Amino acid sequence: MEPVFAATTTAFIERLDAAIGAHMDWTRHILRCAVLRTRPGDDVMQADAHRRCAFGRWFADERAAFTVIDPQRSAEVEREHRAMHDAIRRICEAVDTAHGGSEADLDAFEAHQHALLRLLSELKTQVLTTAARRDPLTGLPMRYGIEQEFDLCRRDARRRGEGLYAVMIDIDHFKQINDSHGHPTGDAVLQRFAAVLRAVARDDELLYRFGGEEFLLLLRAPDVDAARAALSRVLEAVRNARFEHGATSLSITATIGAAQVTDGADMASSIEAADAALYQGKREGRDCVRLTLR
Ligand code: GH3
Ligand code: MG
Ligand code: MG
Repeated sequence: MEPVFAATTTAFIERLDAAIGAHMDWTRHILRCAVLRTRPGDDVMQADAHRRCAFGRWFADERAAFTVIDPQRSAEVEREHRAMHDAIRRICEAVDTAHGGSEADLDAFEAHQHALLRLLSELKTQVLTTAARRDPLTGLPMRYGIEQEFDLCRRDARRRGEGLYAVMIDIDHFKQINDSHGHPTGDAVLQRFAAVLRAVARDDELLYRFGGEEFLLLLRAPDVDAARAALSRVLEAVRNARFEHGATSLSITATIGAAQVTDGADMASSIEAADAALYQGKREGRDCVRLTLR
C-alpha cells in the first residue's frame, strides 16, 4: 500500500470534514424544501444527483486516494451514498402528492445516511492511525503495533510456501557521520538509506524504521540460499549508493542480522534473534550478513 504521508494527512482530513459539512448542508436544505413544499434542485431530483451534489463531486475527485486507503470501504461509501440519494429522491417526488412520502423511504434514507457517515468516520480513523505510525523523516512506518502485520505476513508467506525472515539492518559507524558532518547530513543519509532499502526490497515485503539508524525488513524467500542472496544484494545496493547533502557526498555500509521466522515463533523472539545476529555481525567486522536458522 502506498503511504499516506503525514504532511498531506492534515489537508486530506480537512477536505473530508468539509465534504461531510457540505453533505449536512445538503440535508438541511432538503428538510426546508420538504417543510416549505418547495422543489429541491438537481443535486436532489436528478437520477445522477449523487454525482451532482458537493459531496459526490468531492468523492469522485478523491476516489483514487480512498481506493488506496481501503478499496472495500470506498466502494461501500459509493453504494450507500447513491442509495441515500435514491431514497431522498423518492421522498421529494412524493411530497407534492396527496399521500406524501412513505415511511419506508424515510427509513431507508436514514439508514443509508447513517451507514455513509459511519464509513467516513472509520476511513478518517484509518488515515489518522496510519499517519501516526509513520516516521516523518523517512516516510516509513514505525515498529509500534506491527504484531498484527507480522502475523498476517507470516501466514501469507506460509500459504505461498515461502520462508519469512526477520531482518535488522543497521548503518555502520553512523554516529561518526553525525559527528563529522552534522546532524542534518545524518538525517539526509537516513532518508536516502530508507529509499535505497525500499527500492531493493520486494513490493510485498514490509519495511519499518525500527529506531535510530536501525531498520526492520520482513523478507520473503523460497529458501535459505535465496534469502542470503537477497540480503547480500541489499548490502551491495547500500555500498554502491552515494549519500549526498549539500557539498557532502558519502558512501556508507550497513550490517545485517537475520533470523528465520519459524511457524510458532512470535515477533519479539524473532526480532531478538535477528538482533543477536546483528551484534555478531558488528563484532565480526561489519558490512556483512549474519543469518540465524531456527
Ligand atoms: P555501529 O556501527 O556499531 O552500529 O555504530 P553506530 O555509530 O552506527 O551506532 P551507535 O548506536 O553508536 O550510534 C547511532 C547514532 O545514531 C546515535 C544517534 O545520535 C544517531 N541517530 C539516531 N537517530 C537519528 C536521527 O534521526 N537523525 C540523526 N542525524 N542521527 C540519529
Ligand atoms: Mg549503527
Ligand atoms: Mg544501531
